[in-house]
Amino acid sequence: MRPCAGCLNGNSHMSLVVMKFGGTSVENPAAISRTVSIVAGRVAMGKQPVVVVSALAKVTDQLLRAAASAAQGDRTGALAISSRLRSRHRDTAAALVKNPGDLMNLIDQKFDALDEILRGLAAILELTPRISDLIVSYGERLSSRIVTAALCEKGINAVHVDARDVIVTDSQFQKAIPQDAIIEKRAGERLRPLVDQGHVPVMGGFIGSNEEGITTTLGRGGSDFTGALIGGALTAEAIEIWTDVDGIMTADPRVCPDALRVKVISFEEAAELAYFGAKVLHPATILPAVKKNIPVLVLNSRNPSNEGTRIISLAPHCKSPFKSIAVKKKLSIIDVVASRMLMTHGYLKEIFTIFDKHKCPVDMVSTSEVSVSLTVDSNDRLPAIAADLSQLADVKYEGKKALICLVGEDIRGQNGIAAQVFNAVRHINVRMISQGASEINMSFMIEEDDADEAVRSLHAAFFKDPDPDIFDVEARKLTAQPAN
Ligand code: ASP
Ligand code: MG
Repeated sequence: MRPCAGCLNGNSHMSLVVMKFGGTSVENPAAISRTVSIVAGRVAMGKQPVVVVSALAKVTDQLLRAAASAAQGDRTGALAISSRLRSRHRDTAAALVKNPGDLMNLIDQKFDALDEILRGLAAILELTPRISDLIVSYGERLSSRIVTAALCEKGINAVHVDARDVIVTDSQFQKAIPQDAIIEKRAGERLRPLVDQGHVPVMGGFIGSNEEGITTTLGRGGSDFTGALIGGALTAEAIEIWTDVDGIMTADPRVCPDALRVKVISFEEAAELAYFGAKVLHPATILPAVKKNIPVLVLNSRNPSNEGTRIISLAPHCKSPFKSIAVKKKLSIIDVVASRMLMTHGYLKEIFTIFDKHKCPVDMVSTSEVSVSLTVDSNDRLPAIAADLSQLADVKYEGKKALICLVGEDIRGQNGIAAQVFNAVRHINVRMISQGASEINMSFMIEEDDADEAVRSLHAAFFKDPDPDIFDVEARKLTAQPAN
């Protein structure tokens, strides 16, 4: 077959992929070198990558600690954290780039500016969300510079782009809302031409700026969100989320050694799992990609040949009802029990008003004629919440609970699933049950100490004969080989 003109001139058949690398994929020179090879591999395949990176692992936490110390007047402590971070970034740069002079100057400039802010903060003693965002932004501003230089060092045509010029948000510091229309326009202006000229743009995740150019952030873990926003804005062929696990698993492999990789899962299922604590993806990642029907791939930068998990809008039919079992631990259950007002008009509203006042999100609710049970993340405001609730009714609360959540689109309209689930855990005391309105998850609450056993029992019941189109059964076959 004759190659077409498009293939020959090299450009029009290439396809744009957003590659997002998390903190562990850029944590040290070895990790950054792996990341560089992965990007080089995509370029060699004829892909057009746009790279989004997190801060080096743990840097965001350390910047927040520096900010908190400074705001408490511990100027020396704050500057000590900054100085350790400066050395770490300088050492990383030096290990990756042969002539790192310019990069070192850049790193020093940034840390000089950061130190100025920390000193100011130690004088003012007030940490506003706006200053907090400015301080944490250094993590991604630094990592993206180092990764750009490391890519160039290996002959890749990488160009640094300041994420704050593209990710325009509102002014809700620490959890800013991206402005899709402006982002699309900016991505078209700032990123598209670079890609068309054969460059690989590299930008930090997580950070943005409001329309006045003041630095904002998208919330913790927000780099995935940046990846999805950029993928959506540029209508990428795919968004790759490079992390340190093989993708979404049927259960936590540390708890359940025969857990399998889920090869393909729907957006809705993945979002449900993310909410229930499967730490692989930020739930909001899902949205900008869903809107444009762009597949999201979760891949392992320590095992790049693994095909990972593909998240698509409509998952293919699966022979087993569930795709994965997630667990959320450290929960408390609050029982609000019968009193004269129970079930009168406005009662539930009053209960929720109290949770709202304490800024305490509620995970699951179940009501009966005489009681309301709610589950929340265990937190130190519980005694105060209980005191407020006891104005309305008798209140009991108990910690050390876990929520087990089974997710799968194929439970929709299937009879008898609940019976199978509770049969599998019949030896475990179940406190509360809910089937989400989404109809793709079933959750129940148990004692935290029973959680691992529950997951293993459910896994044994539902993943005995896994569908090879959906789950990586090859891996199980390999490990199941007899020893002799
Ligand atoms: N560095 C930020 C965080 O740790 C954002 C991210 O990594 O996604 O929350
Ligand atoms: Mg992350």
